[in-house]
Amino acid sequence: MKFEKSQKLYEKGLVHLVGAVNSPVRAFTSVGGNPLFIKKAKGSKIIDADDNEYIDLVLSYGPMILGHRHRKVQKAIKKALKNGYSYGASTESEIDLAEIVCSAFPGMDKVRFVSSGTEAVLSGIRLARAFTGKDKIIKFAGCYHGHQDALLVAAGSGLATLSLPGSKGVPEGAVKNTLISEFNDLESVKKHFKRHDDIAAVIIEPITGNMGVVLPEDDFLKELKKYLESKGALLIVDEVMTGFRSKFGGAQELLGVEADITCLGKVIGGGFPVGAYGARNEIMEQVAPLGEMYQAGTLSGNPIAMAAGIATLTELKKQNPYEQFEEHAGIIEIFLIETARKYKVNLVVNRFGSMLNPFFRKGEVTNFEEAKASDSKKFAVFFWEMIKNGVFLPPSQFESWFLSSALTDKDIKKIAEAVDKAMLAVSK
Ligand code: PLP
Repeated sequence: MKFEKSQKLYEKGLVHLVGAVNSPVRAFTSVGGNPLFIKKAKGSKIIDADDNEYIDLVLSYGPMILGHRHRKVQKAIKKALKNGYSYGASTESEIDLAEIVCSAFPGMDKVRFVSSGTEAVLSGIRLARAFTGKDKIIKFAGCYHGHQDALLVAAGSGLATLSLPGSKGVPEGAVKNTLISEFNDLESVKKHFKRHDDIAAVIIEPITGNMGVVLPEDDFLKELKKYLESKGALLIVDEVMTGFRSKFGGAQELLGVEADITCLGKVIGGGFPVGAYGARNEIMEQVAPLGEMYQAGTLSGNPIAMAAGIATLTELKKQNPYEQFEEHAGIIEIFLIETARKYKVNLVVNRFGSMLNPFFRKGEVTNFEEAKASDSKKFAVFFWEMIKNGVFLPPSQFESWFLSSALTDKDIKKIAEAVDKAMLAVSK
């Protein structure tokens, strides 16, 4: 397999782009080598600049749940393009997408569209503070909620990959109201409430994808919600990754918990820049123009992005691929575990629905500390062998793999063959 054109583009990209990437998760820092440049994609496949074809388990870090360039999504985008791209005024498509989104989340009477998951979360936090009149926020170690200052502490995703505790350039003042708890540990939340009486909200990735996949134990979220209610604090569920992916109604539907504020992104834009935050009426009425919490955006509710979102969610509802996801992810999990056993590699696999990933370590992974104790060198060997055998994975042990409904049985077979070769390479 040749990577000559990618290599040339990488060198060219270095001149005017930082590290030749526009998001550090796309750099290959933790797996070695240089990032691949992508030319095009269709269905379950992605093709790089050298015409190497891969089964795509990155899927733009989640959004492409129907696979790439789904016929109906493409048709909707083309149709919307004919009318214009952006008006700075309301369109019917925003109402249509709002209806679909609100109907999927029972705790959401109203929604506000923004242009990224980061914006959705930073607005959701501002809203929690506006509604409660309190300042402090609790987040869980290893959860990633976008790159806003206040939440770039003990964060997963690229920070975990690069082993960064936080980000340079974030002033102390920006994080002084951020408290950290341990995922799956309610006591570590209660500890903060014993010390502080100005906690507005707890924010959580309900099923994490940004320290790799970590599942909430038993009734962790339900217990958390009950506890927060008793303290007059809000539960912000960051479903940027899990929304419409774990289930149509997100992790909340799956886990039987209702957020006070829900943040969304990724899937709802069908590959275009869309985020959203929503809540029941009494909370959303804080937001301008109804209330005094200000939040705005030139391209918010962009008509092309709305069209892609509507088409994606409509098709997703029709396909209802959640059982298929469970089945496919289950098969991949079994291959991973069986080959690891065959080649005597220490491995644990966490998965839920269409999100899964292996951790190269012995013992379970239930929080950030355990995730971080995984062997990244082994993952790097595994990663490159998967690439060479035609499977595109996130270049980090701390990112979930994603499945799309375009994945075929033939693709699964190819993934299984690649896993066998990659695991053998790890064992050497
Ligand atoms: N929240 C979660 C759970 C995420 O996974 C991400 C991105 O991966 C974000 C927020 C930030 O979203 P965006 O990258 O669209 O700003």
